[in-house]
Amino acid sequence: MKAITVIEPGHMEMLDVKMPSITEPDQVLVRIHATGICGSDVHVAHGSNPYAVYPRVIGHEAAGEVKAVGEAVSDLAAGDGVVFEPITYCGKCYACRSGHHNVCRELKVLGCIVDGTFREYAVVKRSQLYRYDKSKMSYVQAALCEPYTIGFQANWRGDVRPGDVVLVHGAGPIGLIVADVAKSRGAVVIVSEPNENRLAMSARFGADYMVNPVKEDLDTLVMDVTGREGVNVVFEAAGIPALLEHAVKLLSPAGRLVAMTFANTPTAIDFKAVNAKELTILGTRHQMQKFPETLERLADRLDRVDQLVTHVFPAEKYEEAFAVLADKDSGAGKVILTFD
Ligand SMILES: [Zn+2]
Ligand SMILES: [Zn+2]
Repeated sequence: MKAITVIEPGHMEMLDVKMPSITEPDQVLVRIHATGICGSDVHVAHGSNPYAVYPRVIGHEAAGEVKAVGEAVSDLAAGDGVVFEPITYCGKCYACRSGHHNVCRELKVLGCIVDGTFREYAVVKRSQLYRYDKSKMSYVQAALCEPYTIGFQANWRGDVRPGDVVLVHGAGPIGLIVADVAKSRGAVVIVSEPNENRLAMSARFGADYMVNPVKEDLDTLVMDVTGREGVNVVFEAAGIPALLEHAVKLLSPAGRLVAMTFANTPTAIDFKAVNAKELTILGTRHQMQKFPETLERLADRLDRVDQLVTHVFPAEKYEEAFAVLADKDSGAGKVILTFD
């Protein structure tokens, strides 16, 4: 079978490898049909993900069809549509015991520490799969479930409530998903994004106010919209650490900052302001138990899912797919690879 493998940083190949088979009773064999390219796959491919182990089949956003199940699996059957939970965890450490298994000390992420979904078949534990109704979503659409779980997780972390005014920095796929979920929770949404095409897209993802911070003054807009109180939640989904520092200024008292960036640069946050306004600063990583909720609600947002998916390539054309994603002028949102 085909498997897109990063042999070492900077060197990716489509290899012909042996089919995996079920060796444990709780395992499931899945034929993968659609898998999205995430920014983190690009990092593993380039060698800028410190956790990655090589050689590695990358990918973690995927949908496919069950082909066979181990003898202990009774609630999945051949033919079922499934999406992948990309993480496994120990269940014993402090994080796991407190419900935060997404930051388990023994966290293993598909496509990073263990082989991922850029391959025709995968064998995973039953607990890493969620069934969905194949008649309601295509494989390509279902592959967007995982990135949507990130949006649900971030909104849960930020405790977005009805009537909150929320600022989302960045209208890439994750920023747009965060905005869409915030809107669905009843928030008033401001999206700030310098790329006009992406900014225009945010209108369809629930943005009530759209700002190009290069052309307009974001601070003035925030203060006007909120009656000078400041926004209640800021999501930094643009990958610009300076925006974290700036958020402290834009937040209302009791506001929340959800830092979604994994940039290496440390930031200088003004903790005098943090304390004066009793702000909460939150990290967010992967997701915890967000798949059932996300799958249920994804079916109602397929119009938005279809807009996020700008390119679909057969897996053989992976080089072209990565090039489109890297090209800032390509208009790429989510780029999906298919194994047909
Ligand atoms: Zn991802
Ligand atoms: Zn653990």
